[in-house]
Amino acid sequence: MGATAAAERVVLGEDRSHARALSAYAHHRCLGSGRGLPYSADRGKKSVSRQALDELKQQIPLQDYLQACDWQPARQLSRGRWIGLCPLHSDHKPSFLVDPIKNLFYCYGCGRGGDVIRFAELYHHAKFPHALALLRQWRGFAPILHETADFYRLQLHCHGEAGAYLRQRGVRSPELIEHMRIGYAPGGCLRGWLMQLGYTFPVLRQAGLVTAAGYDAYSHRIVFPLEGNLYGRSIAASAAPHRFLPGSKGGLYAWEQVQRCPEVILVEGLFDYAVLWQAGFRHVTCSLGNHLNARQFRQLCGGTHTVYLTFDVDANGSGQQAAQWLAHRLRAQGITTRRVLLPDGHDPNSFFVQGGDARQFQSLLEAARP
Ligand SMILES: [Zn+2]
Repeated sequence: MGATAAAERVVLGEDRSHARALSAYAHHRCLGSGRGLPYSADRGKKSVSRQALDELKQQIPLQDYLQACDWQPARQLSRGRWIGLCPLHSDHKPSFLVDPIKNLFYCYGCGRGGDVIRFAELYHHAKFPHALALLRQWRGFAPILHETADFYRLQLHCHGEAGAYLRQRGVRSPELIEHMRIGYAPGGCLRGWLMQLGYTFPVLRQAGLVTAAGYDAYSHRIVFPLEGNLYGRSIAASAAPHRFLPGSKGGLYAWEQVQRCPEVILVEGLFDYAVLWQAGFRHVTCSLGNHLNARQFRQLCGGTHTVYLTFDVDANGSGQQAAQWLAHRLRAQGITTRRVLLPDGHDPNSFFVQGGDARQFQSLLEAARP
């Protein structure tokens, strides 16, 4: 038996005992009872309601938070659980078990476990109130962005101009629209909708969703929800084409779905992503512009895949320059790269919109050079 198989057997064997540990942990006195809190809380001084804590935990899935802390699962186990290196101690073989359904973790290396609040305490060496503050800060505007994205999705099918624009950009499949949660901001009624849900006007302003005059900031845009942000593409030629909310554009688009693929296609824009996904290329991700932020770069460096850089071939050469520079930086990190050369003046979206098909794009992938 090879070393890998032996290691797998050890991990699986240990997992069986730790499955018991995790299931025991779920009924640990600290998590199971309604009385105590399993944190470093100085109880009695200033109480935080259990309901508020439950809400916070619901809004921050443990796995999302772990990924934001750059934790990567090494492998999936039964019942949807994951195992990976422990971010809380110096770990050399995966011993950190995560159960996304129960929203709990347990490390059988250092013996620590709990929920997302406990993780924030341990990871940031923070006391309970500080950990709560960190989590609330991280959660930011997530709930209101979620409501906004849902509202825009409902609008998409009520406005003919939105459907016409999507068709013009080659987006046809209802499955794709569902997958990307594409919506449309018709302008005008977002404010009333969100305020009726209990959000105040200053909160809408702070989130950047409405203008000072109360108008929808994404008016007449096709909207794609991102991690902690929204991308809006204007359907009118007169407005600036791209809009984001203030703050980070987040990590690579749909990264969790491609991070374990042996080959990853990286594109600049969400409409590039859309047509490739629709044509059956599911190992595709998007950096929302040709400049990657630090988090996106780290994500690409975190695997053993080959990255197919498929940036625009525009007249001023900025897409290709960016691809060359990125290839250079990725190679320095030991990542294999290929540069996909589209015909002059094309990006992946225009390539498909103007008649290119999956077979032709596949030939471009095969012809891509380092
Ligand atoms: Zn540990």
